[in-house]
Amino acid sequence: MYLISSQEMLKKAQREQYAVPAFNIHNLETIQVVVDTAKELGSPVILAATPATYSYAGTPYLISICKQAAEIHHFPFALHLDHHENLSDIKSKIEAGIRSIMIDASHYPFEENIDIVREMVVFSHKYNASVEAELGRLGGQEDDLIVDDKQSAFTDPDAAKEYVERTGIDSLAVAIGSAHGLYKGEPKLDFQRLAKIRDKVDIPLVLHGASGIPAEMVKKSISLGICKVNVATELKIAFSDALKQDFNIHPDANDPRHYMQPAKAAMKKIVEEKIRICGSAGKL
Ligand SMILES: [Zn+2]
Repeated sequence: MYLISSQEMLKKAQREQYAVPAFNIHNLETIQVVVDTAKELGSPVILAATPATYSYAGTPYLISICKQAAEIHHFPFALHLDHHENLSDIKSKIEAGIRSIMIDASHYPFEENIDIVREMVVFSHKYNASVEAELGRLGGQEDDLIVDDKQSAFTDPDAAKEYVERTGIDSLAVAIGSAHGLYKGEPKLDFQRLAKIRDKVDIPLVLHGASGIPAEMVKKSISLGICKVNVATELKIAFSDALKQDFNIHPDANDPRHYMQPAKAAMKKIVEEKIRICGSAGKL
């Protein structure tokens, strides 16, 4: 089995105090960059894709490319459902072979959030698929999901304890001040809150929106219990900027096999840097 659940890798990260990076991928090239780099550095890795990405690339294509990448490298990794909300969509993707999911019901009231997530946990665990869910709500924008400041809410440590116990989830995404997309000013993370959540909850904790958070802050959050660090925006920017720059220098370029190379190289640098910040190199 090459497309694995996130459960074991996150438990190991929790025991050994590092984090597994989760990188958002979109197509063949971005999958190649993440898998090649993680394999080179001996890092466990999660490849994440939002519902919009699965629609864009086509779920069977994404699954097939990732399975092939894992087999070619003899390198099991998790292909993950990032911020999925639709239960029947998630179920069909699990049936198609995905073993790592995030069900995002964070926009529902507490009791409804629990009911929805609980149902997903019961289903997923029959397939040994791991389940991440979010309590509290991150601000910012991820694909079509836009949460303004008024709708965002930090995770309450006591509610987190009850939430984890009643849902049976495998990992918890916490809202402690990080946001999706780009930060307007210096990001502020509520480390005291994170420490309190860690105190009450014994499953791996997940930091979303890590693009643009200074390395030292990410490392501190890992020392306080974060076991999975999600990176999307920085990868997209590095890839796109290098592509634009290359077209500026070579306006007549028309061969994707050539003009994709600088974009892949720029993205690879970010992947390497994040793996080092997570402390996951050599942890396979
Ligand atoms: Zn996220």
